Amino acid sequence: MKVTRVESIVLLGRYHLVRVFTDEGIDGVGEVSPMNAAVTHTMVERALAPLVVGEDPFDVEKIWHKMFHRPYKLGPTGAQLEGMAGIDIALWDVIGKASGQPVYKLLGGKFRPDSEVYASSMRRDMTPREEAERALSFKEQGYRAYKIHSATPWMYDSGEDQTIETVREMRRLVGDDFAILVDVNNAYLPHTAVKMARKLEAYDVWHFEEPIPAYDYAGLAALAEAVDIPIAAGEQEYHRWQFRDLIQIGRVDILQPDVIKCDGITEFKKIAALAQTHDKPITVHNTQPTIGTLAHLHLWVSTPSCIYPQEYNIEPHPLRDETPIWKEPLLVQRGRMQVPERPGLGVELDGAVLARLRG
Ligand SMILES: [Mg+2]
Repeated sequence: MKVTRVESIVLLGRYHLVRVFTDEGIDGVGEVSPMNAAVTHTMVERALAPLVVGEDPFDVEKIWHKMFHRPYKLGPTGAQLEGMAGIDIALWDVIGKASGQPVYKLLGGKFRPDSEVYASSMRRDMTPREEAERALSFKEQGYRAYKIHSATPWMYDSGEDQTIETVREMRRLVGDDFAILVDVNNAYLPHTAVKMARKLEAYDVWHFEEPIPAYDYAGLAALAEAVDIPIAAGEQEYHRWQFRDLIQIGRVDILQPDVIKCDGITEFKKIAALAQTHDKPITVHNTQPTIGTLAHLHLWVSTPSCIYPQEYNIEPHPLRDETPIWKEPLLVQRGRMQVPERPGLGVELDGAVLARLRG
């Protein structure tokens, strides 16, 4: 089997999918992290697709090696590896369809029967009371955990912040049998992060995510040593060597790779092996509730280190809610997701919707 074409598709000017076509009539779909679609689209079309056409889609290691090393002056983080992720996920979809097996069965099979997710709120404009009531509503829907995004990203102590007030209100409303996760997107300097973590411990916060500037691995290590609350990070890391350093130097407690950023399923499995070797649980970064979540779902059920509930974006998303890109939606029920049993990723795209959203 040979790859005949790689198609880069940007929907609604923002959401980036990749389709891989083969000479046997089998095609696959992958997703690229959004927000920089014009750049990642060019990356896939100009730099990466020419390296993939003509290859056997089963040769993922060889294709990964070519895509990682040949355009090395463009990376090796950011757009290059996000583009690689879209192609790699699509290749695994092809491999699954060609083998007649769901992708998870090719990744080691079911370590667990299904996957639990936590409700991830992306809002920063709610009052503590509003956020607490929203968390309670998700508890009533069967979720066991809820994450707030709080403080001001990348402002290093100088932004607006109602983190403690929000967590206090949430704990009061949801009770003790519900996990609260706090993500501040690199809002604090290390000494402030220590103080905040100690306050959050009083409310039994389950994890404290990206508390300080990304890549300050020494600072992360000092924080992890100083406080009891688990420190989570990894959405700024793109490949196994960065995760090695995050583990060994940063000494964080919970790792957060994202399959649509970190080079796809092929690299995720290597990061997962590193995580398992160091006894670090994975709770992925997962903001795209369509193909990205689907690819993650195959990894969640097959990866031993995906122990805790995984991230699920609860905000409205056009490709899931208004104009679904697939014929059968992937649903969360009582805070759990079932992995599709059909070959490949297990989704049938709606071609008419894709054509319309491309504009
Ligand atoms: Mg985050």
